[in-house]
Parts: sequence; structure tokens; C-alpha cells
Amino acid sequence: MMEVIVTADIGGTHIRAAVFPREGSKPLRQKRITTKGKDTAQVRLNALIAELIQPDDKVLAIAAAAPGPTDPKLGLVLNAPNISGWENLPLARIIGDQFKVPVYLGNDANLAALGEWRFGAGQGHHDLVYLTISTGIGGGVISDDRLLLGQRGLAAELGHVTVNPDGPMCGCGHRGHLEAFSSGTAIARYVAGQLASGRTSSLTSIPSPSARDISAAADNGDPLAIEALERAGRYLGIAIANYLHVFNPSIVILGGGVSSSGAHFFLPMRQSLKENVFAPGYLDNLTVTTAALGDDVGLLGALALAHTSLKAA
Ligand SMILES: [Zn+2]
Repeated sequence: MMEVIVTADIGGTHIRAAVFPREGSKPLRQKRITTKGKDTAQVRLNALIAELIQPDDKVLAIAAAAPGPTDPKLGLVLNAPNISGWENLPLARIIGDQFKVPVYLGNDANLAALGEWRFGAGQGHHDLVYLTISTGIGGGVISDDRLLLGQRGLAAELGHVTVNPDGPMCGCGHRGHLEAFSSGTAIARYVAGQLASGRTSSLTSIPSPSARDISAAADNGDPLAIEALERAGRYLGIAIANYLHVFNPSIVILGGGVSSSGAHFFLPMRQSLKENVFAPGYLDNLTVTTAALGDDVGLLGALALAHTSLKAA
């Protein structure tokens, strides 16, 4: 028998699962399927896990990264807006009932923080802030070598901190959150608004420019695109200064597609971070860097959760 850990990364469009040896972070097997299908997402997830497990595997644990707010202590997905029916879903029990092994669950951004800490850019750090910046903004915090969960596992929603109460509406329905300024969606919306008000730009010819289009246009010197990224970067710097004040990390890791937007995004972020930190000590030995694990961060974050949980059990 071979001792293995199975992990899953559940997204709104795809579910990935992988089988890892007890030690090590190289998967033995892995597969990706679409989230939507004839059966519910939880049935498809269990079928995918069953398919990957071989007869001579001894499964020690299954760990899964879920999209949206998750209560890891109760094993509940509280709300996954992109998966129909996933509200207060007892996912840990659903998986555990079928496979009869310990099941660990976490919010995907929290687990990404754990994955980067254990296997990626954050190795060797004890205090870490992780942000994933794509269509939305998620976060995770490691404090003194522990993932910060809060009483219901809802801690570290770093995209939903207020950086300007008079700012635009956030996807969550509140005004002026970081996500409403610095996510890919927010950058695209800002440019769309400026174009609609008559601004000229190389982006005018693109029907609805994405954050990626805007980043490319900025690299080609387009003033509106540069302005949009600078604005997003400036607000990100304000938010990061706040995180430094609360958590005093030694590293801030930026993941997600927008974090590859380049100097037009990063330089204003670093500048505003410096301007908004209230004591220079927060910047001592501080590393601000991009994530290292790419698309595997969910699977590896869940693996890190399984390792940590098995050790604690
Ligand atoms: Zn919000």
C-alpha cells in the first residue's frame, strides 16, 4: 500500500484533483474536469476523486480548496456564488461519507496563502500576507506560522477593506472596497467609463477591453491605460499599508492575473505603500513579490492544509 493525500481545487468553471505521496509536492496523478455537468458539482467532485484513487492507495486525507466563504471548522461551504446550490453545503461530510477518511476544507485564497508559505514564494517566512488579484481580490494571512481563520473561518477577506468610502460600488454591494479599485474587473470598468465619457485611447477599437488588454496598452504607452493601472496600484498600496499595520508581515505575495501587470501597476503601488505606512519599521526587511505557484496553488494549498491538519491530529 502507498500512503497518499488527495487534494482538490474547486472553481466555478473547473474542478482539479490530484493524488500526492505522503511526503513531497509532486503529484502522482491529476485530472481536471468542468464544474458544470449532468450531475451536481459535489457528485462530479466525488467521482473525480474516486477515479484518481488506485486500489493500492492508502488515502490518509482529502483536502479541498473551495471558492468563496468557507467554514473550515464545520466543513461547510457557506456560499460559492459561481456554483449553483452551494449554500451552506456540508462538503466535508459529503466527501467523508463516501471515502471514510479525514476531510479538510478551506477557502481558496486562504489555502493559496498556505500553499505559497509552505511550497512557494513564502518559504521560510513566519508572517505572510497573500493577495490574489484577478476578477476579484481574495486574501490569506499567515501569522506566527499559523493560517489566520477567525471564529468562523471568514478572516482575511483582504479585498473587502475600505480604501475610500466615496469610491465605486464593490461586487459585494458595499462602496469603496479595494476590490472596487484594483481588481481586473475594476480596472476594466474604470477604462470603460472613461471611454464612454469621450476619452480617446488605443483601447477605443476594442469592444470591451479586459485588464489584460489594458496592461498591454499601457506597455505600449497608452495614457488612459497607464492612468488606470496607476490608479489601481495606488489604491493597492494604501491597502497593503493597512495590512502591514495590522499584521506586520515580512513578505507580501501578490498572485492572480493582474499581479503580472508590470511596472505601471507596481511602481505606483510601492510609492503609495511608502507614503501610507506610518512608521518606517514596517518596511524593514519587507519583501513584496509575485506568487510562485501559478495554477497549482489551489492543489498545493490544499496539500499544505492536509499536512498541517494531519500533524495536528
Ligand atoms: Zn467588497
